[in-house]
Amino acid sequence: MTTILTTIAEAREALVDPRSTGTTALVPTMGALHEGHLSLVRLAKEHADFVVVSIFVNPTQFGPGEDFDRYPRTFDADVALLESVGVDAVFAPAVDEMYPHGLDQTLVTGDPASRILEGAHRPGHFDGALTIVHKLFSIIEPDVAIFGEKDAQQLFLVRAMVDDLNLRTAIIAAPINREDDGLARSSRNRYLSDADRSLALRLSAALRAADGAKDADAARAIGRAHLDGDGIVLDYFELVDPATFLPVDGTHTGQALAVLAARVGTTRLIDNQLLTLGLAN
Ligand code: AMP
Repeated sequence: MTTILTTIAEAREALVDPRSTGTTALVPTMGALHEGHLSLVRLAKEHADFVVVSIFVNPTQFGPGEDFDRYPRTFDADVALLESVGVDAVFAPAVDEMYPHGLDQTLVTGDPASRILEGAHRPGHFDGALTIVHKLFSIIEPDVAIFGEKDAQQLFLVRAMVDDLNLRTAIIAAPINREDDGLARSSRNRYLSDADRSLALRLSAALRAADGAKDADAARAIGRAHLDGDGIVLDYFELVDPATFLPVDGTHTGQALAVLAARVGTTRLIDNQLLTLGLAN
């Protein structure tokens, strides 16, 4: 039986016993759940005795003109899915519960990597995301929290926040969960028309094509060429050092993380893949 918690007081009360008898995992989500989220839950169950999934569409991580209002909200279906995989508790607060004094409040400012790539295209996004993660950590006090590699820059910044602010929660990364044809699962995929969905396959195809390129410049050129025009607007295709999230030099070989964001029709999607460069030649 999955317990539904909607207030901070209820959540704190419900977590007292599980914390005294075992370990607790948190899986933060914005709902509209799919198999990718369930893979995080399964990983959480391997790492803790009590698993809490939060469902909260966080207004502070959406910019003006972004999809906060139309973001899919499918609460009943989400709870049924979470029941089916044995989640112990769902924490689903209202916006007023999390931001009782309004959205203009104390924020967590991300490290410098929060201002490039996704952060440059979505100003303030990571400060909002880190703020809500910090608030959830303060409420749930989880021993571990699971984040998807799908949002690689967010994962990097959450780890930096935990390290910089001496938080006690251990961060565990879950691999990207994809459809059979390579499309990374995302709540936003439900915005895609059939035609958009076919076009969206070019994102993962671009990453695969860039793998094994002779160096970072060659990989960037291959990736960008795949995502140029024909209904796709590329925000960025960049290669970063996974240890710093900063772009690598053009002559870089060995491993690099390729990260991209593109608009397919009106839907903005992100994807990434660890590449190995230069070794094939
Ligand atoms: P969201 O609700 O989409 O903001 O995502 C909640 C968590 O699920 C984040 O840690 C995401 O990185 C993770 N996630 C979303 N989609 C996937 C996926 N396809 N594979 C792995 N993790 C994912």
